[in-house]
Amino acid sequence: MVSLSPRQLDVLHHAANGLTIPETAHTMHLAVSTIHYHQQVILHTLRARNMANAVLLACRAGVLDGRPRRHGDHAGFAAHVYRGEEPCDLCWAGERAYRAERHEARKRNAA
Ligand SMILES: [Zn+2]
Repeated sequence: MVSLSPRQLDVLHHAANGLTIPETAHTMHLAVSTIHYHQQVILHTLRARNMANAVLLACRAGVLDGRPRRHGDHAGFAAHVYRGEEPCDLCWAGERAYRAERHEARKRNAA
């Protein structure tokens, strides 16, 4: 079974959608060098020759379905948990904001 991290899957997903490395870096709020590093790990993990090859192999392995992943809110957080992953930083931040909001709402209703 091919094992890629949530971050690596996001990088692969963006590559599958035709984004360049700088575009992927901008979208994920990461450095270009970080995206380049993730791509090297992906190529090694999938034993792919380039990113186009990696996208094909990931599709065949069933780890990439072309559906966008949602990040940064309660739904994104829940999706990580559902997939059995550790939620990413962006989703933790969104989840904390969601819980704080819920907490405030309960206090308002109790008053
Ligand atoms: Zn996330």
